[in-house]
Order: sequence, then structure tokens, then C-alpha cells
Amino acid sequence: MKKLFPGSKKKAFNITYDDGVLQDVRFVKMLNKYGIKGTFNLNSQLMQEQFTWIHPNGMKVTRLSPELVKHLYDGHEVASHTLTHPYMNELSDEECYRQMKLDKENLEKLIKRDVKGFAVPFDYYDERIAKCAKGCGFSYARTSEFTNSFASCTDAYHWKTSIYHIDPNLTNFVADFLNTDEELAICQIVGHSYDLDAENLWGTMELICAAVSKYDDIWFCTNAELVDFLFN
Ligand SMILES: [Zn+2]
Repeated sequence: MKKLFPGSKKKAFNITYDDGVLQDVRFVKMLNKYGIKGTFNLNSQLMQEQFTWIHPNGMKVTRLSPELVKHLYDGHEVASHTLTHPYMNELSDEECYRQMKLDKENLEKLIKRDVKGFAVPFDYYDERIAKCAKGCGFSYARTSEFTNSFASCTDAYHWKTSIYHIDPNLTNFVADFLNTDEELAICQIVGHSYDLDAENLWGTMELICAAVSKYDDIWFCTNAELVDFLFN
């Protein structure tokens, strides 16, 4: 069992955001300011259609264009979130494969880097998707479940993150993470940058980024780097 993360760091921190929306531009700038790495899960087909939708609070949410995506995430991870964000339980095996494989290929062409990760849209996940992710050549597949702990997952193809950013316990959770002596403690926060507007969370997330950035025993990594370290 490994005792420390790369660079002899005791803990690992990551933020993983989905859907590739306009607010990512401001959010990536914030991560860069504090030296924090993000993993961004994108839908390559919706991106081409400049897809928009109306948030339940009435706010219009807009996808980033391929042109903006090309370099926005430099220094961060880009992962697949399917072509069109479908409910995967409604898809045939062939369509599941196409949604994952083609999205990976489209994103790799666009950003000119390997796309190693997959994050499932919505909250449906099963063995079929895990198998499909392996078949498509992903090194991990993220479910929509949370550990609500600092423990790491034991299965890269049923990857669970730590906590959802709208969780009312978020600030306490991060404070506990900064104080814990647990070996190989992981804190992975999941969400969407449009929530930062919709839920008025920009201030909370900036305070969290500023706080964690001050600790020199934390490894700031992408999800793919974390999985690669734990399983290889
Ligand atoms: Zn999504």
C-alpha cells in the first residue's frame, strides 16, 4: 500500500465539473489563480450545437463552443461525458459505445491530447457502462455517487467522488480534510459551474480554493492522475 502521493504529499485534492458551460471560463481562471487542477467532463456534440437550456431558476445556461474549449482547459483534464448527455439506461449497447467512443475521439481531436476519463451523465450507472468504458479505452469511469469520506475508491470503473458542491456540509467537509491525519486522504468536489451562479456559490468555492492552496502537503491533481497513481 502506497503511503504518500507524488511529491511526498499526504493528501490529494481535485475539482471535477461537468457539461462545459460558459461559467467554466471564470472558474478555470479561479483554479489557475490558486494552482488547483480540475477535471472537466464535456459533451462534444452538444458543444457543436451551442446547446442552451433554461435552469429551474430561469437562468439560461449555454455550452461553450469548440473554439473556446480548444485551449481553455490547458493544464487541466478534459474527460468524456458522452456526445449528447443521454439517459444511458435507455440506450442500446451499440449506442452506448458510440456515445462514449466517438465523444472520446472528438475531444481528442479538438484538444490534441489523450482523453482518459469518462463521467456518466445523470445518475444512472451499471456494469454495462463499466464494461463499455473499458472497451473504449478509458482508464476510469466516474459514477454519480459520493463517498462523503476521504477514502479512495477501490475500483477505477466505479469511481466515486467525495462530495457534491451544493452539499450544505461542503465547507465543514473541506475543513475536516485540511485537518485530517488520514493517510492518502482524498477530497474531490463535483459540480457544474452554472450552479455557482444559480446557487450563489462563487464566494464559497473561492474561499475553499484559497484555503487548500495554502497547504503544502496536498497534491493538486486531475482525476486521471489520481487514478493512474492509485491503480498503476
Ligand atoms: Zn452532466
